[in-house]
Amino acid sequence: MALDIVNPADGTLITTVPVTSADEVGEHTADALAVFRSGVWSGLAPRERAAALVRLATLMERDAETLARLDCEDAGKPITECRDGDVPGAIESIRWFAEAADKILGATGATPADVVAFTEREPFGVVAAILPWNYPLAMAAWKIGPALAAGNCLILKPADATPRSVQHVAALALEAGIPEGVLRVVTGDGPTTGAALAADPLIGALSFTGSTATGRSILTAAAASNFKRVSLEMGGKSPQVVMADALGYGDALIDGIVEAAFLTAGQNCTAGSRVLVHESILDEVVARLAAAAQALVVGDPRDPTTQVGPVVNDAAADRILAAIGASIERGARAVAGGAEVRVLDGGRYIAPTILTNLDADDPILTTEVFGPVTTVQTFATRDEAIAMANAVDYGLQATVWTLNMADALVMARAIEAGVVSVGAYSEGDLTVPFGGWKQSGFGGAEKSLAAFHQWTREKTVWIQLPT
Ligand code: ADP
Repeated sequence: MALDIVNPADGTLITTVPVTSADEVGEHTADALAVFRSGVWSGLAPRERAAALVRLATLMERDAETLARLDCEDAGKPITECRDGDVPGAIESIRWFAEAADKILGATGATPADVVAFTEREPFGVVAAILPWNYPLAMAAWKIGPALAAGNCLILKPADATPRSVQHVAALALEAGIPEGVLRVVTGDGPTTGAALAADPLIGALSFTGSTATGRSILTAAAASNFKRVSLEMGGKSPQVVMADALGYGDALIDGIVEAAFLTAGQNCTAGSRVLVHESILDEVVARLAAAAQALVVGDPRDPTTQVGPVVNDAAADRILAAIGASIERGARAVAGGAEVRVLDGGRYIAPTILTNLDADDPILTTEVFGPVTTVQTFATRDEAIAMANAVDYGLQATVWTLNMADALVMARAIEAGVVSVGAYSEGDLTVPFGGWKQSGFGGAEKSLAAFHQWTREKTVWIQLPT
């Protein structure tokens, strides 16, 4: 079996890659365990692993343009986003976790005088990550850094459509001197290759980024096999809460909301897909957002002037257009976009869309669209804004736009999300954890030293001293 890798820009076939069968996945995990136990990687001093990871980051820098092009072609992401965002971000992740390799500390217990007890964090052995298609390289780097720094052997399954940047990094890992078999890539689809990883008895920890439905089946498979530690980063319906004083941010307010809504054509788990605006400034905010959305350049993702590229495939385009159409039928108004745009034959492009006048029961207000679509709703009080922000099953990210410190702090506490940012659309940088609440996931399992909790397990050593 093979998968076609198709360029979303124009539907052309780039290459095909094999679907790794369940039996082959089993061979990989057994082999990875042998590599782990051999000590070629796990037995190195943390500083030696760090040095190899730094070499990998340097090689990624050398090949930055290739990596950017591969993600642009496979995922249809604008080349500028890949060059300026994903690739430098991935390199920085590898470096950050390399530097952290010898800073994974244990603790000493407050034991009686005749006992010494301490804890240490040890690698699992074989670990795996199932990756999404929208940030192929960036998500791989979030896993490679901490999983390898801790001494594990890592198996990456890129999304069906976007394997090539991850394959390239695996080749660079060998060039960097990371021993063969420590980092491996298995291409394939979810039901065959992904499901085999989720059910594998040798994998100690598995990180998943993707849809909530798939996350649920992965957790079930983990429970039915070996209770591997699972981290889940899934969907979102992130609010952008615009308080009455938010116009004080000037252009940063509109730029931030537009970026939140339309980065990667809105195909982003933290997409700011719900704008909640104080009723006193509704008209001005909507008018400025509509103008900014209409000014975005929709085009061929390989063109550096393009800001919004295609959606990933026909099924996604049909789903997004159906969601927009259903809302309009219920009375919603598209103040920007609302329709498909013709750019290149074979590609599916949707104009950045802003919907107002929504029916309170419209499903688009609570379901993830995963496309260039955002809704606008109004509120009158802070409490109402908090209730609306929390009125979804997801809890990944939220932004509060206010210059009032009390409002900012009260809302940062009250909003149910793994990341709440104030005054900027942000997921934070590498120094702070990232992850969702509620049906978006289990909380901050990515980035920062917190990532090592996913990729290591704690051991207590208890030593009774002879008396
Ligand atoms: P999307 O709908 O955005 O593609 P998915 O959750 O389907 O999100 O895919 C995210 C990743 O999960 C991909 O690598 C995909 O191959 C994988 N995947 C899909 N279904 C399964 C499954 N049943 N078990 C394990 N992995 C899966």
